[in-house]
Amino acid sequence: MNDTLASPHPSVARARATVLDAERPADRALLNELTALPAEAVPQLLTLANAVRERFCGSAAGVEVLFNAKKGGCSEDCNFCSQAARYASDVVPEPLHTVESFVAAARDAHERGASEFCIVVAVRGPSETLLARVCEAVRSIKAQLPLHVAVSLGIMSDDQLRRLREAGADKVNHNLESSRRFFPQVCTTHSYDERWATCRAVKANGLELCCGGIIGMGETPADRVDFLLELQELMPEEVPVNFLNPRPGTPFGDRSTVEPIEALRFVALTRLAMPRALVRFAGGREITLQGLQNLGMLSGASGLVLGNYLTTEGQPDDRDFRMLEELGFEVLA
Ligand code: SF4
Repeated sequence: MNDTLASPHPSVARARATVLDAERPADRALLNELTALPAEAVPQLLTLANAVRERFCGSAAGVEVLFNAKKGGCSEDCNFCSQAARYASDVVPEPLHTVESFVAAARDAHERGASEFCIVVAVRGPSETLLARVCEAVRSIKAQLPLHVAVSLGIMSDDQLRRLREAGADKVNHNLESSRRFFPQVCTTHSYDERWATCRAVKANGLELCCGGIIGMGETPADRVDFLLELQELMPEEVPVNFLNPRPGTPFGDRSTVEPIEALRFVALTRLAMPRALVRFAGGREITLQGLQNLGMLSGASGLVLGNYLTTEGQPDDRDFRMLEELGFEVLA
């Protein structure tokens, strides 16, 4: 046995005792320690995060398809986003799809093997027309297909969330995107508090919360810890982890992608901070991890978004399903 296996790094040993043995999520002190873990000990952290995933989530893998129901033309100024109207990106705006196309997209997602379908609309928040159409589409999809249906419609009120729940929506995605401290460098047209309030309201109205963000926008390691603790406070059922895929024409278009080891470390920390959550690889998985995607799934993740993402392409479905099968995951039906 080599030294690495014989003697785990003290911080990893503490993490094991806390999260696996005592079944307590990682706190700030532990997350700080693991953020400072030297690169040579990161594989131990990934192994632990995978064991935590197995303990609390088993072998189930959640596979989701996103449907961009109204592309581009957004009034907001999120610096990473090619759907913001103010940036000269390659996204060509499209009007809101018809109910029939929502249902056709959901059917396609089901046939591709996804168990979850997420309707995404590039808006600050839904107008009455938009909300009414999404509610009608959700009702039709739930009546026809055995899919878990999520919606991502921006900032919403209690009344709008209640209507979505009554239409049959299961989950609402609303990302914090980053830490409270860093958020003003991501977006200035709405506040972290507005995002926070919508996330709180999602749960208060009986819907599951899907809440995560994007790594690699220029935040510090300390911001990443703050971000995880802020997510931990919201207790989302699902945490989508995106890595910045710099989009031409956006203010963050010239940023570099995240180092693979830091991407893997963040996935593992997410698992340790929220042991029971569905931690889902979302955008930027392929460009960031490339040949390390298998390792990514063994670093604490329990689901993925099938490519395509909202404005970028992912790898072919069959490659994702083969990867999950080879790694011993069972795809949720
Ligand atoms: S992230 Fe959402 S709110 Fe921000 S610009 Fe893009 S579509 Fe609009």
